[in-house]
Amino acid sequence: MPISCFRSPGHAAACVTDAIKRGEKTYCVAINPEKVRLARGDTTFHEIVRNATFHICDGAGTAAAMRILWGMRIPRVTGVGLFFELLALAEREGLRVFLLGADPKTSAHARDILHRSYPRLQCVGCRDGYFRADESPAIVEEINTSKADMLFVALGSPKQERWIAQYRPQLETPFCMGVGGSIDVLSG
Ligand code: UDP
Repeated sequence: MPISCFRSPGHAAACVTDAIKRGEKTYCVAINPEKVRLARGDTTFHEIVRNATFHICDGAGTAAAMRILWGMRIPRVTGVGLFFELLALAEREGLRVFLLGADPKTSAHARDILHRSYPRLQCVGCRDGYFRADESPAIVEEINTSKADMLFVALGSPKQERWIAQYRPQLETPFCMGVGGSIDVLSG
C-alpha cells in the first residue's frame, strides 16, 4: 500500500492545491488498518486504493506498521485533519468546495457552520449522503454544474471510495477525497 510522505496536514494540503492549480485531477485516500484489511481480501477495493494519487497515513496502526515492518517513520496526517486544512486553504485561495454526505440534518448544520467558521469560503454545494443509487448521475451533474474544485465525500468507508471510483470518470472536479465522519465532526 503506497503512502505519500507528507510532513504535516499543511504540507499535504499545499500539494493538493498545487495539483489543482496545475489542472491535474487527483484523488486522496486516507489509509487506516481497516482499509488495509479490506483491500487484502478485495481486489477491486485494492485497485481503487492503489490508483489514488495521494495516500495519507490516517491511522496510528498504519504508522506503527510502517515503522515496525519497513523502518519508515511516516508522519500521521489524518483524514479529518487534512479536511480542515483544505477548508482553510480553499478559503484563502478562493477554491470552491462541495460536501456530499452525512444525514440531512447534519449536512444542513455543517453548511451553516461553514458559513460562520469560514465566511469567505465558496461552498458551492452541500448534499446529504442518503440517496438512491439511481440518483447518483444527477448528483454528479449537480457537482459538475457547481464547478467545485474540491469534492469531499462522506458516505463511510468503503462506500465513499467505491462511489468516487465509479463516478470519477464523469466528475470534472479536480480533487476528490473520502472523509468518513468528518462532516459530523464539522457540524459538532
Ligand atoms: N453516510 C451517508 N450515507 C450512507 C452511509 C453513511 O451519508 O449511505 C454518512 C454517515 O451519516 C456519516 C458518515 O457517512 O456521516 C460515516 O461516518 P463514519 O465515521 O462511520 O465513517 P468511517 O470514517 O468510519 O468510514
